[in-house]
Amino acid sequence: MKPRFPSNEGEARQPREANGRAGSPAAFVVASQRPRRGERRAVASVAPVVAAPAPRLCVVGLGNIGSQFVDHLARLPGLAHVLLVDRDVYEPANLSAQAVSARDVGRPKAMVQARRLRQLNPQLQVETFAGDLESLPLGRWRGALVAGCLDSLHARQALGERAWRVGSAFLDAGVDPASGLARVTCFLPGPDRPCFACGLDDRDYAALGAVHPCAGPVPVPATNGSFALGGLAAAWLALECERLLRGRPDPSLAGREVLLETRTGRLLVSRRARNPACRFDHRAWTITPFAGLTIDNSLADALRLAGDLVGNHRPFPERLNGKDPGGARLTGKGRMIPRSAEVTFRLPGQRLAKALHCPACGAMVERFQVVDRGGPRTCPHCETGALAVVGFKVVDCVGHHLPAALLRQPLRRVGFRAGDVLAVESGRRTRYLQIPENR
Ligand SMILES: [Zn+2]
Ligand SMILES: [Zn+2]
Repeated sequence: MKPRFPSNEGEARQPREANGRAGSPAAFVVASQRPRRGERRAVASVAPVVAAPAPRLCVVGLGNIGSQFVDHLARLPGLAHVLLVDRDVYEPANLSAQAVSARDVGRPKAMVQARRLRQLNPQLQVETFAGDLESLPLGRWRGALVAGCLDSLHARQALGERAWRVGSAFLDAGVDPASGLARVTCFLPGPDRPCFACGLDDRDYAALGAVHPCAGPVPVPATNGSFALGGLAAAWLALECERLLRGRPDPSLAGREVLLETRTGRLLVSRRARNPACRFDHRAWTITPFAGLTIDNSLADALRLAGDLVGNHRPFPERLNGKDPGGARLTGKGRMIPRSAEVTFRLPGQRLAKALHCPACGAMVERFQVVDRGGPRTCPHCETGALAVVGFKVVDCVGHHLPAALLRQPLRRVGFRAGDVLAVESGRRTRYLQIPENR
Protein backbone atom coordinates (compact mmCIF):
# COMPACT_ATOMS: atom_id res chain seq x y z
CA MET A 1 0.00 0.00 0.00
CA LYS A 2 0.90 3.64 -0.37
CA PRO A 3 3.47 4.79 2.18
CA ARG A 4 2.58 7.71 4.35
CA PHE A 5 4.61 10.75 5.13
CA PRO A 6 2.73 12.24 8.04
CA SER A 7 3.36 15.76 9.11
CA ASN A 8 4.91 16.78 12.37
CA GLU A 9 2.28 19.41 13.00
CA GLY A 10 0.33 19.50 16.19
CA GLU A 11 2.69 17.32 18.14
CA ALA A 12 0.66 16.13 21.06
CA ARG A 13 1.47 16.92 24.64
CA GLN A 14 2.78 13.74 26.20
CA PRO A 15 1.22 12.92 29.54
CA ARG A 16 2.74 10.69 32.13
CA GLU A 17 2.31 6.98 31.72
CA ALA A 18 -0.51 5.48 33.72
CA ASN A 19 1.06 2.12 34.26
CA GLY A 20 4.12 0.17 33.49
CA ARG A 21 6.89 -1.43 35.40
CA ALA A 22 9.92 -2.93 33.82
CA GLY A 23 9.66 -6.65 33.35
CA SER A 24 5.94 -6.87 33.99
CA PRO A 25 3.16 -7.27 31.45
CA ALA A 26 1.86 -3.94 32.67
CA ALA A 27 4.85 -2.38 30.94
CA PHE A 28 2.73 -2.28 27.77
CA VAL A 29 -0.44 -1.14 29.47
CA VAL A 30 -0.49 2.56 29.04
CA ALA A 31 -4.09 3.71 28.79
CA SER A 32 -5.72 6.26 31.00
CA GLN A 33 -8.47 8.44 29.67
CA ARG A 34 -11.08 10.89 30.73
CA PRO A 35 -14.43 9.06 30.75
CA ARG A 36 -17.45 10.22 28.82
CA ARG A 37 -20.83 10.75 30.37
CA GLY A 38 -22.55 7.50 31.13
CA GLU A 39 -19.30 5.56 31.16
CA ARG A 40 -18.04 6.71 34.48
CA ARG A 41 -15.95 3.73 35.34
CA ALA A 42 -15.60 2.29 31.91
CA VAL A 43 -12.57 4.26 30.85
CA ALA A 44 -10.26 4.92 33.75
CA SER A 45 -7.25 2.69 33.45
CA VAL A 46 -6.50 -0.81 32.35
CA ALA A 47 -5.13 -3.52 34.56
CA PRO A 48 -4.42 -7.07 33.44
CA VAL A 49 -6.95 -9.64 34.61
CA VAL A 50 -4.94 -12.75 33.99
CA ALA A 51 -1.37 -12.02 34.96
CA ALA A 52 0.93 -13.23 32.24
CA PRO A 53 4.00 -15.04 33.57
CA ALA A 54 6.38 -12.62 31.87
CA PRO A 55 6.46 -10.14 28.97
CA ARG A 56 4.26 -11.20 26.09
CA LEU A 57 4.31 -10.40 22.43
CA CYS A 58 1.49 -10.95 19.92
CA VAL A 59 2.64 -11.14 16.30
CA VAL A 60 0.01 -10.82 13.60
CA GLY A 61 0.89 -11.69 10.01
CA LEU A 62 3.61 -14.21 9.20
CA GLY A 63 4.44 -13.38 5.60
CA ASN A 64 7.33 -11.38 4.16
CA ILE A 65 8.07 -9.42 7.37
CA GLY A 66 6.47 -11.66 10.01
CA SER A 67 8.20 -14.89 8.97
CA GLN A 68 11.61 -13.16 9.20
CA PHE A 69 10.63 -11.44 12.44
CA VAL A 70 10.37 -14.92 13.99
CA ASP A 71 14.17 -15.23 13.85
CA HIS A 72 14.46 -12.06 15.91
CA LEU A 73 11.68 -13.12 18.29
CA ALA A 74 13.65 -16.18 19.29
CA ARG A 75 16.49 -13.91 20.43
CA LEU A 76 14.64 -10.97 21.97
CA PRO A 77 15.98 -10.46 25.50
CA GLY A 78 13.40 -10.70 28.26
CA LEU A 79 10.66 -12.20 26.14
CA ALA A 80 8.88 -15.21 27.62
CA HIS A 81 5.60 -15.67 25.78
CA VAL A 82 4.62 -15.30 22.13
CA LEU A 83 1.26 -15.58 20.39
CA LEU A 84 1.48 -16.04 16.60
CA VAL A 85 -1.63 -15.08 14.62
CA ASP A 86 -2.22 -15.72 10.91
CA ARG A 87 -5.25 -17.14 9.11
CA ASP A 88 -3.40 -18.21 5.94
CA VAL A 89 -1.37 -21.18 4.73
CA TYR A 90 1.96 -20.95 2.88
CA GLU A 91 1.85 -21.09 -0.90
CA PRO A 92 4.62 -21.92 -3.40
CA ALA A 93 4.85 -18.22 -4.33
CA ASN A 94 5.91 -17.42 -0.73
CA LEU A 95 9.16 -19.39 -0.96
CA SER A 96 11.11 -16.60 -2.64
CA ALA A 97 10.45 -13.85 -0.10
CA GLN A 98 9.45 -15.50 3.17
CA ALA A 99 11.38 -17.50 5.76
CA VAL A 100 9.89 -20.89 4.86
CA SER A 101 10.95 -24.07 3.09
CA ALA A 102 9.25 -26.19 0.45
CA ARG A 103 7.86 -28.63 3.00
CA ASP A 104 5.91 -25.78 4.65
CA VAL A 105 3.78 -25.17 1.56
CA GLY A 106 0.13 -25.91 2.25
CA ARG A 107 0.54 -25.69 6.01
CA PRO A 108 -0.89 -22.97 8.29
CA LYS A 109 1.57 -20.12 8.69
CA ALA A 110 1.01 -19.88 12.46
CA MET A 111 1.88 -23.57 12.97
CA VAL A 112 4.93 -23.47 10.70
CA GLN A 113 6.41 -20.44 12.45
CA ALA A 114 5.56 -21.78 15.91
CA ARG A 115 7.57 -24.90 15.12
CA ARG A 116 10.51 -22.78 13.88
CA LEU A 117 10.33 -20.57 16.94
CA ARG A 118 10.31 -23.51 19.34
CA GLN A 119 13.31 -25.01 17.58
CA LEU A 120 15.20 -21.73 17.79
CA ASN A 121 14.28 -21.07 21.42
CA PRO A 122 12.78 -24.00 23.36
CA GLN A 123 12.45 -21.81 26.47
CA LEU A 124 9.92 -19.56 24.81
CA GLN A 125 6.24 -20.25 25.46
CA VAL A 126 4.60 -20.22 22.02
CA GLU A 127 0.88 -20.16 21.25
CA THR A 128 -0.85 -19.99 17.88
CA PHE A 129 -4.10 -18.72 16.46
CA ALA A 130 -4.75 -19.74 12.87
CA GLY A 131 -7.75 -17.53 12.22
CA ASP A 132 -8.87 -13.98 11.60
CA LEU A 133 -7.45 -11.52 14.10
CA GLU A 134 -10.98 -10.15 14.50
CA SER A 135 -12.17 -13.42 16.00
CA LEU A 136 -9.38 -13.71 18.57
CA PRO A 137 -10.89 -12.96 22.00
CA LEU A 138 -10.06 -9.37 22.97
CA GLY A 139 -8.60 -10.49 26.30
CA ARG A 140 -5.78 -12.27 24.46
CA TRP A 141 -4.30 -8.90 23.41
CA ARG A 142 -4.20 -7.61 26.97
CA GLY A 143 -0.90 -7.08 28.72
CA ALA A 144 0.95 -7.84 25.48
CA LEU A 145 3.07 -5.86 23.09
CA VAL A 146 1.31 -6.15 19.72
CA ALA A 147 3.43 -6.37 16.56
CA GLY A 148 1.60 -6.14 13.23
CA CYS A 149 3.24 -7.42 10.03
CA LEU A 150 0.17 -6.98 7.84
CA ASP A 151 -0.36 -5.72 4.33
CA SER A 152 -4.09 -5.09 4.42
CA LEU A 153 -5.40 -1.72 5.59
CA HIS A 154 -8.50 -3.40 6.96
CA ALA A 155 -6.49 -5.80 9.13
CA ARG A 156 -4.11 -3.10 10.35
CA GLN A 157 -6.99 -0.86 11.34
CA ALA A 158 -8.72 -3.75 13.15
CA LEU A 159 -5.51 -4.61 14.99
CA GLY A 160 -4.78 -1.01 15.96
CA GLU A 161 -8.29 -0.66 17.37
CA ARG A 162 -8.04 -3.85 19.44
CA ALA A 163 -4.64 -2.99 20.88
CA TRP A 164 -5.87 0.49 21.81
CA ARG A 165 -9.03 -0.82 23.50
CA VAL A 166 -7.00 -3.00 25.87
CA GLY A 167 -4.28 -0.39 26.40
CA SER A 168 -1.51 -2.31 24.63
CA ALA A 169 1.34 -0.77 22.67
CA PHE A 170 1.10 -1.51 18.92
CA LEU A 171 3.98 -1.59 16.45
CA ASP A 172 2.88 -1.54 12.82
CA ALA A 173 5.50 -2.70 10.30
CA GLY A 174 5.17 -2.51 6.54
CA VAL A 175 7.03 -2.31 3.24
CA ASP A 176 6.36 -0.59 -0.06
CA PRO A 177 8.31 -2.56 -2.68
CA ALA A 178 7.51 -0.10 -5.50
CA SER A 179 9.33 2.69 -3.67
CA GLY A 180 11.80 0.50 -1.79
CA LEU A 181 10.51 1.60 1.61
CA ALA A 182 10.43 -0.22 4.94
CA ARG A 183 8.49 1.33 7.79
CA VAL A 184 7.71 0.82 11.49
CA THR A 185 5.18 2.99 13.36
CA CYS A 186 4.63 2.92 17.11
CA PHE A 187 1.25 3.56 18.75
CA LEU A 188 0.96 3.95 22.52
CA PRO A 189 -2.61 4.39 23.76
CA GLY A 190 -3.16 7.47 25.88
CA PRO A 191 -4.85 10.86 26.00
CA ASP A 192 -3.99 13.17 23.11
CA ARG A 193 -2.00 10.47 21.38
CA PRO A 194 -2.53 9.35 17.79
CA CYS A 195 -4.11 6.00 17.01
CA PHE A 196 -3.74 4.06 13.77
CA ALA A 197 -7.03 5.48 12.44
CA CYS A 198 -5.80 9.08 12.99
CA GLY A 199 -3.82 8.62 9.78
CA LEU A 200 -6.78 7.45 7.68
CA ASP A 201 -8.53 9.78 5.26
CA ASP A 202 -11.88 9.60 3.46
CA ARG A 203 -10.36 7.58 0.62
CA ASP A 204 -9.06 4.99 3.08
CA TYR A 205 -12.48 4.74 4.70
CA ALA A 206 -14.09 4.37 1.30
CA ALA A 207 -11.74 1.43 0.68
CA LEU A 208 -12.54 -0.01 4.11
CA GLY A 209 -16.26 0.42 3.49
CA ALA A 210 -15.96 -1.71 0.38
CA VAL A 211 -15.08 -4.66 2.61
CA HIS A 212 -18.08 -6.81 3.48
CA PRO A 213 -17.43 -9.12 6.41
CA CYS A 214 -20.35 -11.40 5.45
CA ALA A 215 -18.60 -12.19 2.19
CA GLY A 216 -15.97 -14.14 4.16
CA PRO A 217 -12.23 -13.51 4.35
CA VAL A 218 -11.09 -10.75 2.04
CA PRO A 219 -8.33 -11.84 -0.31
CA VAL A 220 -5.34 -9.56 0.09
CA PRO A 221 -3.03 -9.20 -2.92
CA ALA A 222 0.58 -9.97 -1.97
CA THR A 223 2.82 -6.93 -1.73
CA ASN A 224 5.65 -8.83 -3.48
CA GLY A 225 8.25 -7.30 -1.24
CA SER A 226 11.72 -8.78 -1.56
CA PHE A 227 13.17 -10.95 1.19
CA ALA A 228 15.74 -8.21 1.90
CA LEU A 229 13.18 -5.42 2.22
CA GLY A 230 10.97 -7.52 4.50
CA GLY A 231 14.05 -8.43 6.51
CA LEU A 232 14.91 -4.77 6.98
CA ALA A 233 11.44 -4.03 8.37
CA ALA A 234 11.62 -7.17 10.55
CA ALA A 235 14.98 -6.13 12.02
CA TRP A 236 13.80 -2.60 12.76
CA LEU A 237 10.61 -3.99 14.30
CA ALA A 238 12.76 -6.19 16.55
CA LEU A 239 14.78 -3.17 17.68
CA GLU A 240 11.58 -1.29 18.53
CA CYS A 241 10.30 -4.34 20.43
CA GLU A 242 13.54 -4.45 22.42
CA ARG A 243 13.04 -0.83 23.39
CA LEU A 244 9.48 -1.43 24.54
CA LEU A 245 10.24 -4.71 26.28
CA ARG A 246 12.95 -3.02 28.32
CA GLY A 247 10.36 -1.40 30.56
CA ARG A 248 8.13 1.61 30.70
CA PRO A 249 7.55 2.84 27.14
CA ASP A 250 9.25 6.10 26.36
CA PRO A 251 6.37 8.56 25.72
CA SER A 252 8.32 10.06 22.84
CA LEU A 253 7.73 6.82 20.92
CA ALA A 254 3.98 7.52 20.70
CA GLY A 255 3.14 8.03 17.03
CA ARG A 256 6.75 7.80 15.92
CA GLU A 257 7.22 6.52 12.41
CA VAL A 258 10.60 5.43 11.12
CA LEU A 259 10.87 5.06 7.38
CA LEU A 260 13.90 3.51 5.69
CA GLU A 261 14.17 4.72 2.12
CA THR A 262 16.49 2.17 0.58
CA ARG A 263 16.93 3.77 -2.85
CA THR A 264 18.43 6.97 -1.55
CA GLY A 265 19.69 5.44 1.69
CA ARG A 266 17.75 7.94 3.75
CA LEU A 267 16.17 7.48 7.15
CA LEU A 268 13.02 9.53 7.69
CA VAL A 269 11.67 9.92 11.20
CA SER A 270 8.33 11.60 11.67
CA ARG A 271 5.57 11.71 14.19
CA ARG A 272 1.90 11.10 13.64
CA ALA A 273 -0.35 13.63 15.30
CA ARG A 274 -3.68 13.06 16.96
CA ASN A 275 -6.31 13.80 14.34
CA PRO A 276 -9.25 15.74 15.85
CA ALA A 277 -11.46 14.37 13.07
CA CYS A 278 -10.41 10.76 13.73
CA ARG A 279 -13.36 8.39 13.36
CA PHE A 280 -12.17 6.15 16.20
CA ASP A 281 -13.45 7.17 19.65
CA HIS A 282 -10.00 6.67 21.28
CA ARG A 283 -11.51 5.00 24.32
CA ALA A 284 -9.50 2.39 26.16
CA TRP A 285 -11.68 0.08 28.19
CA THR A 286 -11.37 -0.86 31.81
CA ILE A 287 -11.72 -4.61 31.65
CA THR A 288 -12.46 -6.64 34.74
CA PRO A 289 -13.02 -10.38 35.16
CA PHE A 290 -16.54 -11.68 34.69
CA ALA A 291 -16.50 -13.40 38.06
CA GLY A 292 -18.22 -16.76 38.19
CA LEU A 293 -18.83 -17.07 34.45
CA THR A 294 -17.41 -19.79 32.20
CA ILE A 295 -18.16 -20.49 28.56
CA ASP A 296 -20.11 -23.57 29.70
CA ASN A 297 -22.70 -21.30 31.32
CA SER A 298 -25.80 -20.33 29.34
CA LEU A 299 -26.60 -16.90 27.94
CA ALA A 300 -29.29 -16.64 30.64
CA ASP A 301 -26.65 -17.39 33.32
CA ALA A 302 -24.49 -14.63 31.85
CA LEU A 303 -27.41 -12.18 32.02
CA ARG A 304 -28.18 -13.15 35.61
CA LEU A 305 -24.56 -12.87 36.74
CA ALA A 306 -24.19 -9.57 34.87
CA GLY A 307 -27.29 -8.29 36.69
CA ASP A 308 -25.76 -9.31 40.02
CA LEU A 309 -22.53 -7.50 39.18
CA VAL A 310 -24.31 -4.39 37.97
CA GLY A 311 -26.83 -4.52 40.84
CA ASN A 312 -29.73 -3.34 38.75
CA HIS A 313 -32.87 -2.48 40.73
CA ARG A 314 -34.46 -0.01 38.38
CA PRO A 315 -38.28 0.25 38.18
CA PHE A 316 -40.11 -1.98 35.77
CA PRO A 317 -40.42 -0.27 32.39
CA GLU A 318 -43.77 -0.03 30.61
CA ARG A 319 -42.24 -1.13 27.36
CA LEU A 320 -42.48 -4.79 28.32
CA ASN A 321 -46.12 -4.55 27.11
CA GLY A 322 -47.55 -6.49 30.01
CA LYS A 323 -45.37 -9.53 29.47
CA ASP A 324 -44.36 -11.15 32.70
CA PRO A 325 -40.58 -11.44 32.75
CA GLY A 326 -40.88 -14.04 35.49
CA GLY A 327 -39.69 -13.62 39.05
CA ALA A 328 -40.68 -9.96 39.06
CA ARG A 329 -41.34 -8.40 42.44
CA LEU A 330 -44.49 -6.36 42.98
CA THR A 331 -44.35 -2.96 44.58
CA GLY A 332 -46.92 -0.30 45.36
CA LYS A 333 -45.94 1.71 42.30
CA GLY A 334 -45.90 -1.23 39.95
CA ARG A 335 -43.77 -4.23 39.32
CA MET A 336 -40.03 -4.28 39.86
CA ILE A 337 -37.94 -6.11 37.37
CA PRO A 338 -35.74 -9.00 38.41
CA ARG A 339 -32.24 -7.75 39.00
CA SER A 340 -31.00 -8.82 35.61
CA ALA A 341 -34.05 -7.95 33.50
CA GLU A 342 -32.74 -4.70 32.09
CA VAL A 343 -29.19 -5.82 31.61
CA THR A 344 -28.00 -6.64 28.12
CA PHE A 345 -24.62 -7.63 26.72
CA ARG A 346 -22.79 -7.51 23.43
CA LEU A 347 -19.65 -9.08 22.09
CA PRO A 348 -17.99 -5.95 20.67
CA GLY A 349 -16.78 -6.33 17.12
CA GLN A 350 -18.88 -9.45 16.55
CA ARG A 351 -22.38 -9.88 15.20
CA LEU A 352 -24.89 -12.27 16.75
CA ALA A 353 -27.54 -14.11 14.77
CA LYS A 354 -30.66 -15.39 16.53
CA ALA A 355 -31.61 -17.73 13.69
CA LEU A 356 -29.85 -19.39 10.78
CA HIS A 357 -31.32 -20.24 7.40
CA CYS A 358 -30.89 -23.49 5.48
CA PRO A 359 -30.72 -22.75 1.76
CA ALA A 360 -31.18 -26.47 0.95
CA CYS A 361 -34.52 -27.15 2.68
CA GLY A 362 -35.58 -23.60 3.47
CA ALA A 363 -35.77 -24.18 7.22
CA MET A 364 -35.16 -21.33 9.64
CA VAL A 365 -33.30 -22.74 12.64
CA GLU A 366 -33.80 -20.71 15.84
CA ARG A 367 -30.34 -20.63 17.34
CA PHE A 368 -27.85 -18.08 18.56
CA GLN A 369 -24.56 -17.93 16.72
CA VAL A 370 -21.60 -15.56 16.72
CA VAL A 371 -21.72 -14.82 13.00
CA ASP A 372 -18.04 -14.64 12.12
CA ARG A 373 -16.98 -17.63 14.16
CA GLY A 374 -17.31 -21.25 13.24
CA GLY A 375 -19.44 -23.82 15.03
CA PRO A 376 -21.77 -26.58 13.89
CA ARG A 377 -23.53 -25.25 10.84
CA THR A 378 -25.15 -28.35 9.33
CA CYS A 379 -28.91 -28.07 9.08
CA PRO A 380 -30.57 -30.30 11.71
CA HIS A 381 -33.61 -30.80 9.45
CA CYS A 382 -32.18 -32.00 6.15
CA GLU A 383 -28.70 -32.74 7.56
CA THR A 384 -27.11 -31.63 4.30
CA GLY A 385 -27.58 -27.87 4.03
CA ALA A 386 -25.02 -25.48 5.47
CA LEU A 387 -26.79 -22.97 7.69
CA ALA A 388 -26.30 -19.36 6.65
CA VAL A 389 -26.80 -16.04 8.39
CA VAL A 390 -29.60 -13.81 7.14
CA GLY A 391 -29.32 -10.10 7.83
CA PHE A 392 -32.69 -9.54 9.50
CA LYS A 393 -31.93 -12.22 12.09
CA VAL A 394 -28.84 -10.41 13.38
CA VAL A 395 -29.32 -8.87 16.83
CA ASP A 396 -27.52 -6.00 18.55
CA CYS A 397 -27.35 -7.51 21.99
CA VAL A 398 -28.36 -10.40 24.21
CA GLY A 399 -31.09 -9.58 26.73
CA HIS A 400 -34.23 -10.85 28.39
CA HIS A 401 -36.27 -9.53 25.47
CA LEU A 402 -35.17 -12.63 23.55
CA PRO A 403 -36.97 -16.01 23.76
CA ALA A 404 -36.04 -18.05 26.83
CA ALA A 405 -35.31 -21.11 24.69
CA LEU A 406 -32.55 -19.20 22.91
CA LEU A 407 -31.09 -17.92 26.16
CA ARG A 408 -30.69 -21.47 27.46
CA GLN A 409 -27.89 -22.09 24.94
CA PRO A 410 -24.40 -22.42 26.43
CA LEU A 411 -21.99 -19.62 25.52
CA ARG A 412 -19.52 -22.14 24.09
CA ARG A 413 -22.05 -23.48 21.60
CA VAL A 414 -22.99 -19.99 20.46
CA GLY A 415 -19.35 -19.27 19.62
CA PHE A 416 -18.15 -17.37 22.69
CA ARG A 417 -14.62 -18.14 23.84
CA ALA A 418 -12.66 -17.82 27.04
CA GLY A 419 -10.94 -14.44 26.99
CA ASP A 420 -13.86 -12.76 25.22
CA VAL A 421 -14.74 -9.35 26.60
CA LEU A 422 -18.48 -8.71 26.97
CA ALA A 423 -19.84 -5.18 26.96
CA VAL A 424 -22.50 -5.32 29.66
CA GLU A 425 -25.00 -2.48 29.39
CA SER A 426 -27.33 -1.34 32.11
CA GLY A 427 -29.04 1.99 31.77
CA ARG A 428 -26.39 4.32 30.42
CA ARG A 429 -23.49 2.41 31.91
CA THR A 430 -21.25 0.03 30.08
CA ARG A 431 -18.91 -2.39 31.76
CA TYR A 432 -16.36 -4.56 30.03
CA LEU A 433 -16.14 -8.01 31.55
CA GLN A 434 -13.72 -10.68 30.43
CA ILE A 435 -14.74 -14.34 30.46
CA PRO A 436 -11.92 -15.89 32.53
CA GLU A 437 -9.56 -18.32 30.87
CA ASN A 438 -9.09 -21.67 32.53
CA ARG A 439 -5.35 -21.93 32.45
ZN1 LIG B 1 -7.33 8.32 16.10
ZN1 LIG C 1 -31.91 -27.92 5.74
